[in-house]
Amino acid sequence: MDEDSFKRRLLIVSNRLPITVGKPKKGEGLKFHTSVGGLSTGISSFYKSYNAAWIGWPGITLEKINNKEQKEISEHLAKDSCYPVFLNQHDIENYYNGFCNKTLWPLFHYFTTYTVNKETLWNAYYRVNRKFCESIVKVANSNDIIWIHDYHLMLLPSMLRKELPNASIGFFLHIPFPSYEVLSMLPWRREILNGLIGADLIGFHTYDYVRYFIESVRRILGFEDNLGKINTYDHIIKADIFPMGIDFERFSTLTPDVEQEIKNIYKQNADKKIILSVDRLDYTKGILQKLEAFDEFLDKNPKYIEKVVLIAVVVPSRTNIEHYKTLKKQIDELIGKINGKRSTLNWMPISYLYRSLPFKRLSALYNVADIALVTPLRDGMNLVAKEFVATKRDEKGVLILSEMAGASKEMGEAIIINPNNKQEIVKAIRRAIDMPEHEQIKRNSIMRKRLKRYNIIKWAEDFMDELLQIKKIQQQFLMKKITPEIENKIIEEYDKSNKRILLLDYDGTLVNFSDKPKDTKPDEELYAILGALCEDDRNSIVIISGRDKTTLDRWFGQMNMGLVAEHGVWIKTKGEDWQMIAPLTNHWKSSIKPILELYVDRTPESFIEEKEFSLVWHYRKSDSKLAKVRARELKNSLLDLTGNLNLEIMSGNKVIEIKDASIGKDRATLKWISSENWSFILSIGDDVTDENIFNVLPKNAYSIKVGSGSSRANYNIASPFYVREFLKKLSKERR
Ligand code: UDP
Repeated sequence: MDEDSFKRRLLIVSNRLPITVGKPKKGEGLKFHTSVGGLSTGISSFYKSYNAAWIGWPGITLEKINNKEQKEISEHLAKDSCYPVFLNQHDIENYYNGFCNKTLWPLFHYFTTYTVNKETLWNAYYRVNRKFCESIVKVANSNDIIWIHDYHLMLLPSMLRKELPNASIGFFLHIPFPSYEVLSMLPWRREILNGLIGADLIGFHTYDYVRYFIESVRRILGFEDNLGKINTYDHIIKADIFPMGIDFERFSTLTPDVEQEIKNIYKQNADKKIILSVDRLDYTKGILQKLEAFDEFLDKNPKYIEKVVLIAVVVPSRTNIEHYKTLKKQIDELIGKINGKRSTLNWMPISYLYRSLPFKRLSALYNVADIALVTPLRDGMNLVAKEFVATKRDEKGVLILSEMAGASKEMGEAIIINPNNKQEIVKAIRRAIDMPEHEQIKRNSIMRKRLKRYNIIKWAEDFMDELLQIKKIQQQFLMKKITPEIENKIIEEYDKSNKRILLLDYDGTLVNFSDKPKDTKPDEELYAILGALCEDDRNSIVIISGRDKTTLDRWFGQMNMGLVAEHGVWIKTKGEDWQMIAPLTNHWKSSIKPILELYVDRTPESFIEEKEFSLVWHYRKSDSKLAKVRARELKNSLLDLTGNLNLEIMSGNKVIEIKDASIGKDRATLKWISSENWSFILSIGDDVTDENIFNVLPKNAYSIKVGSGSSRANYNIASPFYVREFLKKLSKERR
C-alpha cells in the first residue's frame, strides 16, 4: 500500500454505523450494540492501519431521543471514531423503507414490477444524501480518503466532490448494477449516474455489473470509457471489479463454543444428511423456489425420506414493507404444507428458524451441513456461499449455488444451478448427496484457497490501492489542465496582439456532444459569444467542423467568420463563397456506399451520413460490443478496397469516415494559418480530427483539448461549458 495513505484519514460512510443504538423500552437508558455484519467486522481490522472514522445512521430515529440523549450518543460514538447522521421517522419511511428498498432494491434486482416510482420517495433520498454530505463536511479534512458504501448513498459522491474537490472519493456498490435497459426504467437514472461519477473509483462485485455501469454512463450521460477509465466533465474516474471477500480466519477457525454448538446440532440430526439454507427474508433470495425444489426432490427420491433434513434459516428483514410481509406468509405456509404432508413420527423434513442467529450458531450450522443450498434469483455477491466453504476445514461438503449470485463468478467449482429451473435444483441436490468425498475435497480446496487469499482485508486494500492509483493518473492530467493563471496568460497575449485567429471545432467543443446531432444547433448564448468575438476586427474566428457546408452555412453563414466544412473539404472565408480545398472527386462513393449499407443492415441503429466528398458510418447508438466488432470488420474490408483509391479510413468518436486522403483539418488549418502573419493563434477541439490541427500549429500557438483524454494539445479544458466561459472572458463585451 502507498505510504502516504497511512498518514491520511479514511472516512467510511455507510447507511448504518457499525454500532447500533437502541432503547429497549420507554424510560430505559440507551443501549449500544456492535454490529457484526461482514462489512463492519472485515473493515474494522483493516481500517486500524489508517487514521479512520465511520459515518452513518446509528439506528435510532430522532423521535425516540431527546437533545440530551442525542448528545450522549454523539459522545459515546466519538470514542469509537464513529459520527452519527441523525434521521427522523419520516426519513426512514421515505428514504430507507422508501426509495432505497421500494425503488432501488427491487429495480437493481430486476424485480421491476415491485418498483415504486414516487417523487416523495426520491425527494427523501436526495434530502438524506444531503444530510450525509453535510455531516461528512463537518468532520472531513480537504484531502481525506472517503469510502462510500452501497445503494443508499449513490448521490453522495458528487455532492461531496463539490464540497471537497481534493478528497479521494471511492464508492462500492454491494448489490447488482442492472443492465442499461432496466436502469432506463428509473425516472432518476440520470441523477443517480451523475451522483456516482463524483467518485474517483467505483467498485462492483462482478465484471457484468461494471460493464452495465459503463454502458449506462455512455448511453445516458454520453461519457466514453477506455478500459474502465471514464472521461467525465473534468476528471478521469475508474470503474472496476472488487469481488468482496470474507473474514476467512474467523470462519475457518474452530472455537470451543462453536464446537459445543456442533455437538448439539448433531444430537438432533443424527444419521441425517443436512442441507442448509441461510437467507435474509427477501424476495430476491429464491426461498420459495428452493422449498418447492426440496419438496420435489423428496417426491422423486423417496429413499431419502427420514434421511435428509433441510435446516432453513430465514433472517427477519424489512418487516415494514408489504412484499416482505407477503413473502413471510408464503414461506410459513409452504413450510407448514411440506412438513404437514411429509412429517413422520421421527422426522420433520424442514427445520425452520425464523430469526437472526449469533455467530457461533451460524458457524456451527455451516460446520455440520453436508450441503449448502444457495438459490437467489439475483444477488450482488452472497456471502453465505463463501462462509460455508470457508468453514469446511476438512474440505468436505457441497455448495449448490445460483448462477444469479455474484459469488458464482468466483466459485465455479460449486454445483451451479439456475434458480428458476426446479428440475435442475432437484438434480443438483441428488448429485450433491451422491458426490464422492474426493470430488468434494477437490472442488472445495480450490475455492478455499481463493477465499483465503482474496479475503475481506485484501479486498479493502485492493480498493484503496486502486483509489490512490487513479488519483495519480488524475494528477498527470491535472498538470495539463487549464488553470486560471494559464487562462490569464492567454488573455494577456490576446490583449497584446492585433492579428488573432481562433480555430474552433463545433460538436463537443462549443456544444455538448450528443446522440442526436440535430439537437445540437447553436443556442442564443453561443451566438452571443461568437458575435462578440467577431465584432472585434482584430479577430478572425474560424469554425472547423466535420459538419456539411449547408448546415454550417445555415447556422453561421450570416456571421462575420470563416468556416471549414466536412473536416476540411470546403473552406469559406469572410464574405466569400465556399471553395474546395483541392480538386476532389467523389466517384468512389458508389463502390463504397453499398458496403456501408451492408453494415447498417447488420448493426441495428447505425446509419450512414453522406457528405459531398465523404461517407460516414455512425454507430454511437448501437450496442457497443456488437458495434466494436462490426467497426473492426468494416475497417478491414474497406482497407482492401481503398488501397488504390487514395482514400483515408478515419476512426472518430463512434464513427468511421471515408474520405479523400489528401484532405483533413490539418490541411485546412495550414491554409488558414499561412494566409496572414498572425500574432495570436488559438485552437480548441475535442476529437481525433482536432489532433490533426494541434499537430500542425506553430510553436507559439495555444491549443486546448476539451475533455480529459490524452492529446497533443498544450492544455485540457473540462467541457464545452468551460470553453464558453473562457471565450466570454476573451470577448470584449464581457470585460
Ligand atoms: N448472517 C448472520 N446471522 C444469521 C444469518 C446470516 O449474521 O442468522 C450473516 C451471514 O453471516 C452473512 C450475512 O448475514 O455474512 C448475509 O450476507 P449475504 O451476502 O449472504 O446476503 P445479504 O443479506 O447481504 O443480502
